[in-house]
Amino acid sequence: MKRAFITGITGQDGAYLAQLLLDKGYYVAGLVTRRSTDSTWRLKYLGIENDIDYIDGDLLDCSSLNKALEYSKPSEVYNLGSQSFVGTSWNQPILTAQVTGLGVLNILEAIRNTDPSIRFYQASSSEIYGLVQEKVQSEKTPFYPRSPYGVSKLFGHWITVNYRESFQMYACNGILFNHESPLRGIEFVTRKVSNTVARIKIGECKELRLGNIDAKRDWGFAGDYVRAMWLMLQDSRADDYVISTGTTRSIREMCKIAFDYVNLDYEEYLVIDPKLFRPSEVDILLGDSTKARTTLGWEPSTSFNDLIKMMVDFDLYLVEKDRKYSYHTSLKS
Ligand code: NDP
Ligand code: GDP
Repeated sequence: MKRAFITGITGQDGAYLAQLLLDKGYYVAGLVTRRSTDSTWRLKYLGIENDIDYIDGDLLDCSSLNKALEYSKPSEVYNLGSQSFVGTSWNQPILTAQVTGLGVLNILEAIRNTDPSIRFYQASSSEIYGLVQEKVQSEKTPFYPRSPYGVSKLFGHWITVNYRESFQMYACNGILFNHESPLRGIEFVTRKVSNTVARIKIGECKELRLGNIDAKRDWGFAGDYVRAMWLMLQDSRADDYVISTGTTRSIREMCKIAFDYVNLDYEEYLVIDPKLFRPSEVDILLGDSTKARTTLGWEPSTSFNDLIKMMVDFDLYLVEKDRKYSYHTSLKS
């Protein structure tokens, strides 16, 4: 039986990856940080909460990482844990640097101390391209991060490359472009839109407040993207890969699709709120995933329209029929 250890198992990607690995017959252990409320709602939603070996720990606590690896004895480690929200990274830049940046080094060191033959996946990010230096971004495009989050991810990216080159570790960066799903955190724009559309549709809410709706992203479905993570660790050689759909859409286009789906006109509900603009913006992202497609045989299977509809359907279901996850559908802004 193959054995995997996942940090960030309670997040969007952690939940889908755990499901994929369990389906493949893996033993799956996951690092869980102490929280005052239950953080396992995504695993519950997927019906896999009892199939995982939970291990207490934190990316900031090196001893917990060492113990977790000694206990779970994985052959594959997926480092998905991070302070993952760009907006928060300006309010908590130091925490973001510690968890999202230094946390990567902490887990790499734990692997080096415990079993350097473990294969390692690092959740790198298209945010490292930031102020894009090429129209279409590939593994060869220079980096220019635009937020404390992006800068922290760039540290994580390079330290992963460095450990691969210094210690011959099988360590890969997945440079994943934005990927969404019904299990996306409510603070991210796609889920904020799908959830607000559902609440407007049932009359619980009257407006959708957004910031810069002209920003563009290359959005895919998270379920497709966790497959790429797994494929990276099955190859004969460790490397870095862009994972993206190759199409880009504005927030405005996404809103139109979501509102159209429930027969509403987005322009009647949209309010632009200057408070929601960011100190510096990533205006456009568009990825070239040719390398992953040709080397790993990966390709996305979900269209953008289907993704947004899937998310609106899920939020309609939550607000109309199933309030059990309502804590995770309450918007702070
Ligand atoms: P989420 O925000 O949904 O999940 C983040 C996870 O990290 C949660 O399980 C969270 O735990 C955990 N975490 C937070 N702080 C710590 C800590 N100090 N120690 C250990 N774990 C911690 O993110 P996603 O699933 O969307 O993303 C997965 C990874 O991929 C992240 O690293 C993200 O930055 C990166 N990424 C995501 C993209 C996307 O579009 N989704 C694009 C590119 C990269 P808890 O639930 O307890 O808060
Ligand atoms: P990011 O690409 O990781 O920052 O993902 P987000 O979903 O948080 O943001 C995507 C884009 O949507 C960014 O350019 C934001 O500036 C823009 N955006 C506009 N309004 C909002 C909003 O209300 N919330 C969020 N999260 N993003 C918004």
